[in-house]
Amino acid sequence: MIRLLLRPASRRRCSDNREIFETGAVVASSRPVTSIQPFLGPGLPFAALAVVTVASLVHWTMPIRQRIQWQVEEKRCVLQLHEFHRAFEAYRRDNGTYPRHPMALYPKYVRDRGSFFCPAYRNGRFHRPLVEKTRYAGNWFNYTYYFPYLVLHSREEAKRIDRARVPLMFCGIHAEARYEADHRQPVTPSRRRDFIDRYGVPYLPVLRQNGRVDLVDDLVRGPEL
Ligand SMILES: [Zn+2]
Repeated sequence: MIRLLLRPASRRRCSDNREIFETGAVVASSRPVTSIQPFLGPGLPFAALAVVTVASLVHWTMPIRQRIQWQVEEKRCVLQLHEFHRAFEAYRRDNGTYPRHPMALYPKYVRDRGSFFCPAYRNGRFHRPLVEKTRYAGNWFNYTYYFPYLVLHSREEAKRIDRARVPLMFCGIHAEARYEADHRQPVTPSRRRDFIDRYGVPYLPVLRQNGRVDLVDDLVRGPEL
């Protein structure tokens, strides 16, 4: 149970990568395709230039395409978190409290076990293992989300925290996607610090008990995100 509410020490989130993407947009727009028109005459130089230009465009527009992909993934994750909130509320109406294990939502309140995975997660995408495993009712469940609300079931912890501020869930995938996209290799603590120094702190979607989803700084720690 405790594993479900612990947040890995290496997990961080970033919020502002605009500088990267805006830089890519400016460079891309300063090299319009029409600039190769004067070279249409000689075939070979044109072909070579065309190849270089296309390769250059692919390179410089990559950050823009990546940003769009990240935004789409985050929107899908936020929608999924809202679905979870409806499931938590339905469970609470029926049972008077939040489930003592999140997998108790399945299958009556969350019908698809795949919903316990962020939509941005894919096998082989990340260097770090981001899938957690837990056993419930005799079955093993895999998941990528975190469930800080479980601390509410601990009398010791509940005394020291503002219960209303403890979120139901959060997702760490989106920060990891940014860290790994920047380095394209396993993210070490020093590389993570380097990323934050250059681009700012990533953020993560956090589902509140009232159903709101906030984007919270990845450096915020503790159960009261
Ligand atoms: Zn997510």
